[in-house]
Amino acid sequence: MDRPVEPLAMTFHQHAWRAALSAAVLVVSAPLLVAASEHWHDGRPVLLATGLGWLAVTVLMPFLALKGTRSGVVRFTASATLWGAGTVLAGAFPTATVGPVPFPHLAHAVSLAGLAYIAFQQLRHARVAGDDQPLLVEASLFATVMAALSWDVFGRTGHVGDGWWQASASLVVLIASFVAASAVVLAVEHGALRLACFGLGLAAVATEVTAVTAAHSPRAADVAVLLALVGGLLLLVFQPRGGFVRHGGVAVTQAARRLRLAVTLPGAAMLLDIAVNTVDPRVDGLLSAYYGAAIVAAAVRQAATARAIDRTRQTLSFQAQHDPLTGLQNRTALADALVEPDRTQSLVILEVSGLDDVTDVLGVAVGEDVLRAAAANLREHVTPLDGTTYRVRHDEFAVLLPGSPDESVRHLPHVLAAVSAAPLQVPGAGRFPVAAVAGVARVDPGARAAGDATLPLVHADLALRDARSNPGLLGWSVYSGAVAAQHARRLLVRERLASAVAEGCIDVHFQPIVDFTTGRVVKFEALARWDDRELGRVSPVEFVAVAEESNLVVALGEHVLRRAVSTAHAAGVFDAEVRLAVNVSVVQLQSPGFAEVVREILSGYRISAHLLTLELTESVFLDSDSPAERVVTELARLGCQIAIDDFGTGYSAFGYLDRLPVHVLKIDRSLTQSLTGEGNGRSVVTAVVDLANNLGLTVVVEGVETDEEAAICRSMRAGLGQGWLYSAAVTSDRIISELEREYPVSPEAVR
Ligand code: C2E
Ligand code: CA
Ligand code: CA
Repeated sequence: MDRPVEPLAMTFHQHAWRAALSAAVLVVSAPLLVAASEHWHDGRPVLLATGLGWLAVTVLMPFLALKGTRSGVVRFTASATLWGAGTVLAGAFPTATVGPVPFPHLAHAVSLAGLAYIAFQQLRHARVAGDDQPLLVEASLFATVMAALSWDVFGRTGHVGDGWWQASASLVVLIASFVAASAVVLAVEHGALRLACFGLGLAAVATEVTAVTAAHSPRAADVAVLLALVGGLLLLVFQPRGGFVRHGGVAVTQAARRLRLAVTLPGAAMLLDIAVNTVDPRVDGLLSAYYGAAIVAAAVRQAATARAIDRTRQTLSFQAQHDPLTGLQNRTALADALVEPDRTQSLVILEVSGLDDVTDVLGVAVGEDVLRAAAANLREHVTPLDGTTYRVRHDEFAVLLPGSPDESVRHLPHVLAAVSAAPLQVPGAGRFPVAAVAGVARVDPGARAAGDATLPLVHADLALRDARSNPGLLGWSVYSGAVAAQHARRLLVRERLASAVAEGCIDVHFQPIVDFTTGRVVKFEALARWDDRELGRVSPVEFVAVAEESNLVVALGEHVLRRAVSTAHAAGVFDAEVRLAVNVSVVQLQSPGFAEVVREILSGYRISAHLLTLELTESVFLDSDSPAERVVTELARLGCQIAIDDFGTGYSAFGYLDRLPVHVLKIDRSLTQSLTGEGNGRSVVTAVVDLANNLGLTVVVEGVETDEEAAICRSMRAGLGQGWLYSAAVTSDRIISELEREYPVSPEAVR
């Protein structure tokens, strides 16, 4: 049964109960102390000695059971001392007589109320905990102890024969029945608890018998006391080692609660008993023995509970600071280490990439093996450098190295290599390369004084981001003013962009795409343009990247699509059977309802779908069977053309070309630039153009800047070109003139 773990603090009614109890104890004990001081000379040495013995046992017990936590020891010593002191006092004033006072009735009332309260609480907890049967044992134990104490109280006060006695005896009977019944239930369900439960039941029933017979047949009562003693011993000997407390978050709070009751109530009952004892003593050897056994049982119980709590706490605190998969320390531990750094250190955050491939293909278990291997390699490398390794997220490690970032970056190539080596150590995973990028930040001993101890984490994250987006950085970046400035710029761009998109301030320009052989414009590519009041003109390369980081790209893309279509429509582009191409980001494609938006826009302007081309990058197709792929298929079924943008820069994994509906390949301008250079550029482009032609795809060569490039493209039989040779992107009012224009077709290819 799942219950939220409660904090260890007491609830309101526990507070109230404690307050009431303390008040009662005060009311009872104050006059007693006065009375007791008058009767000190009556004290019996033997009983005093017995009391001292109990004191020693109860004080020592928690020490024996609780090795470790100091606060635990202190708490248990305190409560045990209370008990022990109670016993001593009980022994010290057995013969004191203070005459008839209404006091015993009060004692009765308080004692019975306490008893009922405990039984109720424990029953309730046992019910709430559901499957936690051991709680019933706890309940039973407390009920037994309390029944014994209250019976003792009745016996000593001589309340036999009148209405009080009848009432209290019935209550004792009731509780003892409950104890006996729960013991039977437990014994049936948990074989291992059988003897302990039998002992518990026996003690309860015998206590009950004693309570009923004490007044009229003392011999029967004595036998019953003996039996109760045997039952108590059985319980003591056979109860499970370590107590009945389960390990785990819920159990520890329950245990703590029971412990609180155990500390408070018996101690209070004991004081009560002292009170009554002082009023009207009745000494009985067997009774004292049983009484003592009950105290020892409860003290042992208490100590066992305490030890279980202690162990659970240790386990929990270990778990709280460690990552179960790799055994490394976790983010919490790292945050702790950053709170009070004792020297200058470098915090390195390492992000592992490529793990998804391993997990997707070989399964989660192999992916975890690779992570474990990476963790082991890291630790092996970092420990000799006097550094510490942490796992902070699924695919992120952190390393704290001594010294400033300038000093520690020289270790970074080895640290990164340690991660990359991991797949080679896992059978079958070697063919999937795994890489790491790192962000480094400085950790200063003065960090705490400066305020935020998590600042290095933030800085390292920013540096990591910088390393990720700049492949030229060889895999790591150190946090600096420049990184901070970049981050600040990104935030500013994001903020301004959000309002620009909301207010419709993103404009669209149109770049003609020209047929190489006829020189006519056959298509326009819509390109987003943004002039911001504060930031000036921002390149789409920058703001599209920012938009993609923040989901803003969905609104941005839809805005551009609507504006491009409506502007082109108004300018007569579609009437001239000239097409429109719009860039679509992967994030946009994955957003729900994208295909629906396209359909709605097309039907709104009554435009034939084949006139709209959606330009996507290859990354969309890397993950086969992804939702994005399904959307692409749906768009193609609508009739839209699908273009692969920037072809030749990314993975150039041709596999998707026959799997998916693709109509256009746009050759990236970096390849175009290589056409006239020294290297293999020309052969590569030739191969791509041939491939496209053979597959029946249209080729668009991007970034055509010179006649020479255009001529080469034409000689390769590439169909369409786009670039500054023809025109840069134009504003909407120049679309019409572009439509009418016929670009000169240069003569033959160079060579
Ligand atoms: P892209 O889709 O590859 O767009 C072509 C880019 O090449 C445009 O840059 C264009 O101005 C530039 N260009 C055109 N002819 C030439 C040439 O002859 N030489 C050179 N060197 N460059 C040329 P722009 O407009 O700065 O856009 C950059 C990128 O921003 C685009 O690359 C595209 O990925 C993205 N982008 C632009 N508008 C949008 C949009 O509305 N949505 C999305 N998702 N991305 C967009
Ligand atoms: Ca494009
Ligand atoms: Ca492109």
